[in-house]
Amino acid sequence: MKPVIVVHGGAGRIFKEREDGSRSGVIRAALKGYSILKQGGSALDAVEQAVALMEDDPHFNAGCGSVLNQKGEVEMDAIIMDGKNLASGAVSAVKCIANPIKLARLVMEKTEHMLLTDYGAQCFAKAMGVPEIPGEKLITERSRERWMKNLEPDSNPHKFQTDLGTVGAVAIDSEGNVACATSTGGLANKLVGRVGDTACIGSGGYADNHVGATSTTGHGESIMKVVLARLILYHMEQGMSPEEASDTALNCMKTRVGGLGGVIVVSNSGDWAARFSTKQMSWATVKDDQLYYGIYTGERLTKSFEEALTSEGF
Ligand code: ASP
Repeated sequence: MKPVIVVHGGAGRIFKEREDGSRSGVIRAALKGYSILKQGGSALDAVEQAVALMEDDPHFNAGCGSVLNQKGEVEMDAIIMDGKNLASGAVSAVKCIANPIKLARLVMEKTEHMLLTDYGAQCFAKAMGVPEIPGEKLITERSRERWMKNLEPDSNPHKFQTDLGTVGAVAIDSEGNVACATSTGGLANKLVGRVGDTACIGSGGYADNHVGATSTTGHGESIMKVVLARLILYHMEQGMSPEEASDTALNCMKTRVGGLGGVIVVSNSGDWAARFSTKQMSWATVKDDQLYYGIYTGERLTKSFEEALTSEGF
């Protein structure tokens, strides 16, 4: 099987000043994941590492750069899933760790459970030797400014849905195994304790070797209502291509519950899609040693993998 990776850096509106960083962030994550796959690494390792790279990148709403809740704190959600055996691990409302996606993988591999939240997740992280970092380290000036702006009485009523930057990855490895990973700081100025779609299996992501893998982004409460990730795979099981399945599911979310979002998909035969109903979504994919990427609807830029490695300084 020829390996493929697809990553996203969130659906929504990407402000001009964030465009270059967002583009380069998804490209770097796709290159990182593909390098792992090319060396015979697993889809699971590729998606975890690609997402961890974007969590460390302050351009995205995940890890460092996460948006703040109503109290001005970072609370993050993440999920990872292995298509080989449907194993999955997730964390929700976690604070003070750099890489929630790595903790989600530890939940999957070291516990009998699938989702740990808040204080319990924090205790588990400690027991696993995951370093605790000051919450301040995850907060950027941009997210603090945005939090304060949203607190103003006449702030944008659609504040929850603009300028998002959740990150995700899906991959298929040379053995034909698929995996997905998604990580987010959630919605800006959300209520304390709000858990979004990202941590919920079937909503923020799903991976099954019998069909493929998908990672989602967008308005979490809408995504959960239609169980977006699993809905896409359902349409693929009924014979649709990844692209048709994505568009059908996103259209259902728009018409049934008025929600917008974006998705990335890889099928178990290596076909892929990156589709969104929002204005923009940053995405990148590498297949057959060729990188494709874009931000706007219909945009599909391309470069060879080797050329991209050099231009991104790998
Ligand atoms: N889906 C995420 C959430 O609602 C936000 C996003 O994708 O930007 O928590």
